[in-house]
Amino acid sequence: MSSQKILMRCDQCSMSLAGGCTIRGVCGKDPDLNALQEALIYGLKGVSAYYYHAYELGYKDDEIGAFLAEALYTTLTNVNFDKKRFIELILETGRIHLKTMELLDKAYVETFGVPTPVEVPTGTEEGHGILVTGHSYKALYELLKQIREMGLEDEIKVYTHSEMLPAHSYPKLREFKALYGNWGGSWVYQRQEFSEFPGVIVATSNCVVPPLKQYADRIYTTSVAGLEGVPHIGDYNFEAVIKHALKTPRMKKVEGGKIVTGFHHTNVLPLLDKIIELINEGKIRHIFVIGGCDVPNPKMGYYEKLTQMLPKDTIILTAACGKFRYNRRDYGTIEGIPRFLDFGQCNNVYSIIVLAAELAKRLGKDLNQLPVTIVLSWLEQKAIAILYTLLYLGIKGIYIGPRPPEFLTPSVFEELRKRFDLRLISTPEEDLPKMLAKGTTLSDDSPLSA
Ligand code: SF4
Ligand code: SF4
Repeated sequence: MSSQKILMRCDQCSMSLAGGCTIRGVCGKDPDLNALQEALIYGLKGVSAYYYHAYELGYKDDEIGAFLAEALYTTLTNVNFDKKRFIELILETGRIHLKTMELLDKAYVETFGVPTPVEVPTGTEEGHGILVTGHSYKALYELLKQIREMGLEDEIKVYTHSEMLPAHSYPKLREFKALYGNWGGSWVYQRQEFSEFPGVIVATSNCVVPPLKQYADRIYTTSVAGLEGVPHIGDYNFEAVIKHALKTPRMKKVEGGKIVTGFHHTNVLPLLDKIIELINEGKIRHIFVIGGCDVPNPKMGYYEKLTQMLPKDTIILTAACGKFRYNRRDYGTIEGIPRFLDFGQCNNVYSIIVLAAELAKRLGKDLNQLPVTIVLSWLEQKAIAILYTLLYLGIKGIYIGPRPPEFLTPSVFEELRKRFDLRLISTPEEDLPKMLAKGTTLSDDSPLSA
């Protein structure tokens, strides 16, 4: 069997060859054009995911909806063969995605309040347990509200899992007595963690995987999530989940650790003057944005090691679930500024972008002149949409891993690499000096090099 990579596979129309067009389309589409179309579609999937969560809270935007329709239309058979136009559409996806993240942030803040940093317990509390995973705060809110309405806040404790962790930082979610703490790490370990959790589990979106028999009879899906043979909760009516939880063994109080989350541009902007002062004094040498998905790939060890190797005069901004590999360490502070700031879910990269733009503005620099390095880990299409936003913003020298996108042909990846200086992670030992050096290549008149 040949190990040569198939550069394209398209079977979307009736002109398809048997098994799909795999060398060149009967329509004339070549592998690079096919790759660009797929790259666009994957970015649109990411935009759709965030738009969905804004939409489920009642927030809509005509421009986002219109762009999704137009961009998808361009990928139909015999519509657009212009590769340059697809590169433009990919960057336009980045712009629209920034707008979508902004809309979702507005939806979260206006619905659940302005987030504040919180210490989230990782132990357990006395009572029956419900574990909520995925990204839908709307589903979590409805569940907590219904527990309260049924008078069961002392009987049932709700735990967040993976990307649901930052829910604790929103006042209108935190005010529910039933919301207790965080259980487990990222989605990658869910089969073991769900097996060990004695209560009921609710999956609200990705990442959820087909269940083991150990917990298949006590997991539910809601919203966009679905699992074969698992009951699905429609219309956010969690009565069946709550009643089921009452039949599961009570959990005992067990003290655990604490995880800090809930940083947001609204609570970090007031610290920016101090951060600039520390940069100018050389006390903060470099800012690392290390975030993104967790992936069951041994190369994810790169992120664990890199964060461990960072010098003490650097700070880390993070978001999404890859952080569970390195968020339980005590990174300490630099003159009161925490060295590790968790901004929450993947969409909260929006806050990091707002802060970076403000930092650049106050320093009179463009984003690429800042002593900032972005290191992304990607699993799925939301991370791809975030990457497009960063490229749209003109940010160069982004490191991505744990592997290059399989959906890009080598020549399309090379094109992006050349245009945006996109870098694949290698080893922390090799990459770290180059990352740190970025902070020392500023112009002589830069206040940062003073
Ligand atoms: S759109 Fe083109 S490449 Fe795709 S199946 Fe039809 S003919 Fe083949
Ligand atoms: S950050 Fe990515 S990998 Fe993690 S739960 Fe969200 S979608 Fe899945």
